[in-house]
Formats: sequence, C-alpha cells, structure tokens
Amino acid sequence: QTLLVTGANGFVGSHIVKAALEKGYHVRGSVRSEKSAAGVRTNFPQYEDKLSFAIVPDITKPELYEPAFVVATNTPPITGVINVAAPFVLNVQDQRCDLLEPSIGGAVSILEAVKRYGKDVRCVVETSSFAAILDLGKGYRPGYTYTEADWNPMTYDEAAVADGSTAYCASKALAEKAMWGWVEREKPAFTLVTICPPWIFGPHVGGVRDTAHLNESSHALFSLIGAKEVPPIDFGGFADVRTVADAHIAAFEKEEAAGQRFLTGSHFDYQSVVDSVRKEIPELDSRLPMGTPGKSGEVYGLDGSKAEKVLGIKYIPLSQTMKDSFLQFLEVEKVA
Ligand code: NDP
Repeated sequence: QTLLVTGANGFVGSHIVKAALEKGYHVRGSVRSEKSAAGVRTNFPQYEDKLSFAIVPDITKPELYEPAFVVATNTPPITGVINVAAPFVLNVQDQRCDLLEPSIGGAVSILEAVKRYGKDVRCVVETSSFAAILDLGKGYRPGYTYTEADWNPMTYDEAAVADGSTAYCASKALAEKAMWGWVEREKPAFTLVTICPPWIFGPHVGGVRDTAHLNESSHALFSLIGAKEVPPIDFGGFADVRTVADAHIAAFEKEEAAGQRFLTGSHFDYQSVVDSVRKEIPELDSRLPMGTPGKSGEVYGLDGSKAEKVLGIKYIPLSQTMKDSFLQFLEVEKVA
C-alpha cells in the first residue's frame, strides 16, 4: 500500500515518512519545492524505490493535488493520506493570510482532493493539535483534565485579531472543525481520524542542520540553552515525535480509530526539562537556567489514554525525548 504524506519535509512529516517506510509502506510525499523533496530523499537512500514526491505549491487548491495521487505503474495505489502540512508559525504578520486561510483552506482542500482523485483512499489522518482541544481563555485551570471531548472555542473573527500563538491554536481548531463538518456533509467513502498532540519534541530525522531555522517546537527547546530564566508553562503537554508518527500510522491501520480524534500526549513544563537535561547531559549543566528544581507549577492535566488503548502507542518519557533532542543540538555546535 502507498501512503500520501503531505508536508513530508517538516519535522513531524519526515518522521511519519520514516515510520511508514520502516513498516513496509510505499510513501508519496507532497512538498512545496523540489529542494524540499531532495532534502527528504537524502535521509532515505535505502528506500529509493519506495519513496516518490509530488510538488504541491499551494495546499489550499484541491486541483493542485491531482499529480500527488498519480503513482507509477509498479507502485501500489494510495490507500491512506496523512495530512501534516499546515503553517506552524507563532510570529505572524497577518493572522488571516499566514495562518487561518492556509490552515483551514488546506484542511478542506485535502478532503476535496481525496474525493476527486483518491479513489482507493479509505482513510485520511489529520495532524491536528492539542491546540484544537485547549480552551486558552481558561488559563492553567488546575484540577481540570482535558480529553478529546474538549474543543478550543475560539471563532475565526476572534482569531483574526488575536496574538500569533492564540491565532495558531485557533487555526488548528477551526481547520479540524472544518474537516469534521465536511465529512458530515459529504459523507465520503473514506474515514477521517485526527491526532491531537501538544508540543512535539524529539530528534530530527537526519539530525539538526541549522539551529537558526528550527521548527517552532524545537526552537522553544533550543532557546533554553543560555536562557536566564526557566520559562513559565505555555503548553502544558508534550509528545515525542516518534510516538506521534506511530500514532498517525496506527490511526490509518486500526479500523476502530475511524471517525475519532485522539489526544496524544502527557504533562509538560520547562522546569522538568532543565532538571532532566541537567542530569542526563552534564555538559549542559552550566548553560541551562536553574529555576526551582522539582517545582513545576500547577497546570491542567491531559488524558492521553485513549490513544494508548485504541492506537496501541507507548509514550516515550520526557527524559528520553529531551536527551535525544539536546544531544542533536550539541552535535550541530560540534560541527560548526
Ligand atoms: P514544520 O514547520 O517542520 O513543518 C510544517 C510542514 O507544513 C512543512 O512541510 C511546510 O512546508 C508545510 N507548510 C507549512 N505552511 C504551509 C503552507 N502554507 N502551504 C504548504 N505547506 C505548508 O512543523 P512541524 O513538523 O512541527 O508541524 C507539522 C504539523 O504538526 C503542523 O500541522 C502542526 O500544526 C502540527 N503540530 C505540530 C506540533 C509541534 O509541536 N511541532 C504540535 C502539534 C501539532 P515548507 O517546508 O515548504 O514550509
């Protein structure tokens, strides 16, 4: 079987490509440029004959996806689509153009494209986010535990005038809602599953090339090196990128996952990160803020147990994720 993975060159997308190839799937990746395709290819020389690419310059136009669904004659048909591509930027000029339109437009356009060109597709898995679950207006909400039943209630008009990170969170909620709405109206032959991870951290496929151009979540971690203070909790949850990749593949494979959303993650705070990295990587000790070791602050809980039960994923502990992430940051310094 072949899986189409959109945003195949990104931090999360490249791990999904890796997990799919390692499980024996053929992968068709969609990216915005030949350069991005070439970058992914170099990470998978051993899978040359199982990996191909389509250039989709604008994810909001379903017609541009047509070539993405065309596979070579000796390649099995595309039976699953994993839609990872969406803007994840927190510092934006224009909330509508930079976040809301591409995010919502991209989400609906992939469904339209599957309807038009993906006759063998039986499941679409969307990379949504815990941002689509979290009610930012309720703050840290100690004692409350978020589940898949919760929704970020922000409207399009509120998001259009909000700050960048609030607008990003809303863009994920509005995109996911638009997808469920589309499915309800169109009653397509394929099913939809959404994966809702909080912060995603962990190593990059092929290593970190350049710390000046990290994706948002890796940048948040990298910024701890040399920071004066331990930042307050922003997003109170995380998942390892490898777990998130497994969750996407399982969502496609497990029929009982169809039609559901999955909160995929567990508690996160920066104090626990610095405490853990200090222990695991002593050479970073003097370069990390101290904060108050062991005192992480109160925040809402996240119930990620449905993903464990239905998708069969195993959460990687924070200490392992952080160790693997920071060791890659150190590698870049050694090369530089
Ligand atoms: P990256 O920035 O590494 O990857 C984003 C991917 O989406 C890239 O392939 C990028 O292409 C593509 N993309 C972004 N904007 C557009 C656009 N307007 N049109 C076409 N393609 C676009 O981020 P991540 O891998 O971290 O994020 C991937 C997905 O995971 C996103 O949907 C994000 O919302 C979601 N997510 C991420 C979390 C995290 O902590 N990292 C947490 C929860 C969800 P290009 O390289 O060409 O820009």
